[in-house]
Amino acid sequence: MRDGDPFRISLPDRVRSVLASLVDAGAEAALVGGSVRDLLRRDPPADWDVATSAPPEQVAELFPGSTWQNPFGTVTVRDTEGEPGVEVTTYRVEAGYRDRRRPESVQWGRSLIQDLARRDFTINAVAWLPDDLAAGGGRLVDPFGGAEDLETGTLRAVGDADARFAEDALRLVRAVRFATRFDLRLDPATETAMRRHAGSAAALSGERVRDELLRLLAGPQLPSGAFLLMERLGLLAVLLPELAALRDVPQLKRIEGDAFEHSLRTADAMPASDAPLRLAGLLHDLGKAKTLADGHFIGHETAGAELAEGVLKRLRSPRAEITRIVRLIRLHMFSYSPNWTDAAVRRFVRRVGVDLLEDLFALRAADNAASGTREPPVGGVEELRARAAAAMAMGPLDASQLAISGDDLVTELGISPGPEIGRLLARLLEAAIDDPSRNEREQLLELARGWQRSG
Ligand code: ATP
Ligand code: MG
Repeated sequence: MRDGDPFRISLPDRVRSVLASLVDAGAEAALVGGSVRDLLRRDPPADWDVATSAPPEQVAELFPGSTWQNPFGTVTVRDTEGEPGVEVTTYRVEAGYRDRRRPESVQWGRSLIQDLARRDFTINAVAWLPDDLAAGGGRLVDPFGGAEDLETGTLRAVGDADARFAEDALRLVRAVRFATRFDLRLDPATETAMRRHAGSAAALSGERVRDELLRLLAGPQLPSGAFLLMERLGLLAVLLPELAALRDVPQLKRIEGDAFEHSLRTADAMPASDAPLRLAGLLHDLGKAKTLADGHFIGHETAGAELAEGVLKRLRSPRAEITRIVRLIRLHMFSYSPNWTDAAVRRFVRRVGVDLLEDLFALRAADNAASGTREPPVGGVEELRARAAAAMAMGPLDASQLAISGDDLVTELGISPGPEIGRLLARLLEAAIDDPSRNEREQLLELARGWQRSG
């Protein structure tokens, strides 16, 4: 498939109808970017972006109920509940753009080509211009050779690579993401420019970097390749110096390699469906760079939790995500022994938190896989998991699960609302963790009365 070639595609109805409305209104409208790239690769597109000659005001008018996000002039058209909206963006031209490889064969859509020229990589600078919407007929618009680059497995910046990375350093991370996701080699000029501009990634906003890193971690492909590539390009030391510092930190594990390689393997072994969990795997051993002494890493989980918190704050991660990852790292060295009493199991669950338990077991499983460690069939983490499940089914692990509430203490015992209620509930929870059969209304009230009497 080359620029100008006929290209028949099967469009979802909602996308076809958006294109048809724009064309009927006399505008030019085309599919652009990732969806066309995915169609060329015969992958189902994740989202459908439309570019048009119609100004945003006209687009908003054509689709009542659509939302218009300034300042990019992107209008999101939503017609089907649940389905992602179709994004319609008016043709844009980036200031300072100089036209290079525009082939003579392309006469239509002069502004469409300018819109493509401001995009990051040739594989993303592709469009599909319909000529027979009902039948899914149209042509490929590919002025920069994106289809050929896909075929040869090349990631190439559009136009002057140096200028592209100077315009927007986020493209450095995006390049790594696309190269990993589609298994592409960096075109030499693109790679040279990336090395030259790696340092400029330091000025990127945390939000934008986090967004790309999570997209990178969420892929079906293993994340290790992406982070090795970032290291090779000098990008890792700029964006995640704490992780880069694990290179050459020696480890004594069944699987050879330094602490950096171990971290990548751990991230790889995490479920791809949960990108923040993969991030926890990637960052779980950050503390090893600081704590190595006599072949041991005493306290690395505490040092690592602190370093990870710094990283996540820099990336402007939401608070809940920071708490989740930092707690996992702090707890990841837990050890279990089969002689734990049931009460000890319940205390463990309470300390970890019911919500975090499965994540912690997932981190341990990935850490083990990345170390070549096997849990013993009896008395290992699987046993703890089973016992924890039984403990959760058996009795309360949280004050909210007690058979009485603070209000009951107020009405039944005549205690006035205040900190005393919280202290009593905490003490009752301790009692119920020791012996779940005590979690029964009358027994708990009786216990509390007794404590009150004895002062
Ligand atoms: P995905 O399938 O992962 O969503 P995508 O190609 O759709 O990949 P998006 O980040 O959704 O990637 O961006 C949509 C399109 O917008 C891209 O295909 C690209 O053409 C363009 N684009 C996005 N970000 C940039 C950028 N920083 N610089 C230049 N072009 C960009
Ligand atoms: Mg997209």
